[in-house]
Amino acid sequence: MAELRGRIHSFESCGSVDGPGLRFVVFMQGCGLRCGYCHNPDSWDCLAGREYSVDEVCKEVAKYRIFMRFSGGGVTLSGGEPLLQSEFSAELLRRCRENGIHTAIDTAGSVPLEHSAPVFAHTDLVLLDIKCINPGIYHELTGGKLDNTLETAAYLGRHNIKVWLRHVLIPGVTDRDDLLERLAMYAATMPTLEQVEILPFHQIGEYKWREMGYDYRLTGVTPPSPERIENARRIFAGHGLRVVI
Ligand code: SF4
Repeated sequence: MAELRGRIHSFESCGSVDGPGLRFVVFMQGCGLRCGYCHNPDSWDCLAGREYSVDEVCKEVAKYRIFMRFSGGGVTLSGGEPLLQSEFSAELLRRCRENGIHTAIDTAGSVPLEHSAPVFAHTDLVLLDIKCINPGIYHELTGGKLDNTLETAAYLGRHNIKVWLRHVLIPGVTDRDDLLERLAMYAATMPTLEQVEILPFHQIGEYKWREMGYDYRLTGVTPPSPERIENARRIFAGHGLRVVI
């Protein structure tokens, strides 16, 4: 059988925001969404990046095992969208688990379950980014469909896989009390949800969009004020959810 190879954008050896403890983060190449605020438009093209075998990535991971072990960390697949290269991601996480390493995936949950479920079978924690709870705004913001994300969320609950929900707070787009309230109500029904992370919008991605010749759609949008961030925190906390900002 041919060796399984995946396209990878980059690695981060001691990430501290993509799951518990210190993480070895694998940023996979390729994404089917086009989020208006994306920081990594250079990760969109499925044919870019560099090819690695599972063995090669495992060798990289092995160098940092000690940091992972002592910090309660592990490996996180991020992107891009790691579920697009589902065979590679599943095998990489299977190998990590086989070596006693905690596994996480940072995903928008936009890939149909027939592809993503085999990856979830080897995943301890899913950082699920629900971009907006309104299907129309979701589509405008990302070019994708909310349905897939909600089907993914339901699947994770049924299969007892832990979830951290992520949500980017964008003034004039997602930072609306009615939307936040609906998302919080939905989140409160997710049986394996451990926490909600509110990510305040910022303009980090803009220069990359321009460099790559893309038309950046959120020019002039400012980060949310401390009051609006606190407002969002209060709405989620009001539904009994643990909130991290
Ligand atoms: S899902 Fe992530 S990588 Fe893909 S476009 Fe959205 S923010 Fe960018």
